[in-house]
Amino acid sequence: MAAVNLNFNQFSYDSSSIIFQRLSDVEKKINEIAKRLDRKAPPVFTLLNRNIAGVPSAGGSCVKIPYLFLIKTEDIPDKLKIKGIDDPRLQSDSYLQEVAHSTQEFMGLPKSSLNFIDKETLRVFLKYISDPVLSEKAKEFVLSHEVSHIHHEHSSKHPTFVKSLGFASVLIIAASLTAILGFSVPFFIVFASAAAAFVTTIALIKIYERSQSHAREKEADLTALKASPQSREGGIYLFETFQKHQQQARKNNFLSKLIYSPSGNNRLLTLTHPTESDRIRYLKNAK
Ligand SMILES: [Zn+2]
Repeated sequence: MAAVNLNFNQFSYDSSSIIFQRLSDVEKKINEIAKRLDRKAPPVFTLLNRNIAGVPSAGGSCVKIPYLFLIKTEDIPDKLKIKGIDDPRLQSDSYLQEVAHSTQEFMGLPKSSLNFIDKETLRVFLKYISDPVLSEKAKEFVLSHEVSHIHHEHSSKHPTFVKSLGFASVLIIAASLTAILGFSVPFFIVFASAAAAFVTTIALIKIYERSQSHAREKEADLTALKASPQSREGGIYLFETFQKHQQQARKNNFLSKLIYSPSGNNRLLTLTHPTESDRIRYLKNAK
């Protein structure tokens, strides 16, 4: 049985604490999912992330779990629960701070103050956690998604194409220097063409990495459905909640209008992930 690492950032908890129990439960669940994908799967470990982050992230054989992810609907005091997706309190800093403190206190964590990103995370969290059944199914989907990344070894795969493109750009720069030093080619022309080749190469790498990243995320979503078919509804609920939140947020400030599209997709996230609309569509259609 995998050990639970609770000494992250020098905080430790005894085995009777709620945070220890919850993290152990998640670690058990993660290892069950991993075994469903591969009976011989090596153990996966969990690590506590004390920051106000929304979702876990996988790397190597470890999944980092933000404390908010361990909070259940019933842990939130009734007076702090939202009344509908457009509850005006979601725009109040003091209300969000109170939610943060209340959840941190529940988990026995030191209180921290909010920044802009934290506020957005808390708003989405309050919306998705409002449904006690779907929020737990959404968590199951997210854990299965992270385990799928580990199963497919996504974090260690660095495409050879990217390596060779990087190597090609080094060759171009070396060739340009040789041309400048060895032949009487005007410096400016060589430099301009080398710079253009370099920029094109970087752009190609970025486009390639983006499509690779999208493919890996989609593969992790679809593998998650195979490992936990009952979590499909949770995945759809999560992305639909993101979209509703992001559409709502566009009405509240200019920055949100830049980051979120009119249909509620997160433009920043699409640098690495398929859009929420795409993910909802293929989760609904997957056999
Ligand atoms: Zn992912």
